[in-house]
Amino acid sequence: MPEDSAFPTAYEYALARRCSRCGAEPGLPCNAPRKQDDIAARNQIRAQAGHPPMELNPLEMLHAVRVDAGIRHKDRDIGAAPWPEDRQPGVRYDTLGEHWQPDQT
Ligand SMILES: [Zn+2]
Repeated sequence: MPEDSAFPTAYEYALARRCSRCGAEPGLPCNAPRKQDDIAARNQIRAQAGHPPMELNPLEMLHAVRVDAGIRHKDRDIGAAPWPEDRQPGVRYDTLGEHWQPDQT
């Protein structure tokens, strides 16, 4: 399913929530040292083999409970919003409030 551009991405939803696993505040990354160590170790092996670092999926750096909660939150917002053809330009239908700002482009 393509991303609904009227809504923040699943990553932005997850990041806008407090993490119930590590307690990271909204907007801050998860405190996940084992994930970071794991990626650093894999990148070191890649560097020894002459490969560039892996491209990171930012969702991988958040705890799964936070990602799941963000996806449920996004699904609720989409379910509560009007159909795309009934939406008003410039109106936000997400409920992230101050924790997310749409691009000003
Ligand atoms: Zn976390």
